[in-house]
Amino acid sequence: MSDCLFCKIISGDIPSKKVYEDELCYAFYDIDPQAPTHFLVIPKQHIRSAAEVDDSNSAVVAHCFEVIAKVAKEQGMESFRIVSNIGEQAGQSVFHLHFHVLSGRDMTWPPG
Ligand code: IMP
Repeated sequence: MSDCLFCKIISGDIPSKKVYEDELCYAFYDIDPQAPTHFLVIPKQHIRSAAEVDDSNSAVVAHCFEVIAKVAKEQGMESFRIVSNIGEQAGQSVFHLHFHVLSGRDMTWPPG
């Protein structure tokens, strides 16, 4: 999508600090980290949010989780949190599906 920030990051039109890339997914460090390690894993396919996951795109989403596990292992992350905000009330500010991966500090529950 031409007006989507994360589509522009995938295409390289907006620079990012890459963590991982393959044909289906892109991972990059969050510009405003909320933990010592904070990166985002996104499908290259434009999906608005986790509320739009269905039969046609769930394999790509499953692949994002494989990528998270792989990168976490590579970075020696034994404990981490995965967050995906859906809709403005939940805190979604970029409407391209993304999984926050946060690690390196104590986390509280429930999230604010
Ligand atoms: P959301 O608020 O759950 O939609 O998450 C969007 C995330 O994207 C936020 O944590 C932002 O800090 C992050 N973000 C916004 N613009 C950029 C960027 O240009 N590079 C990296 N991360 C970004």
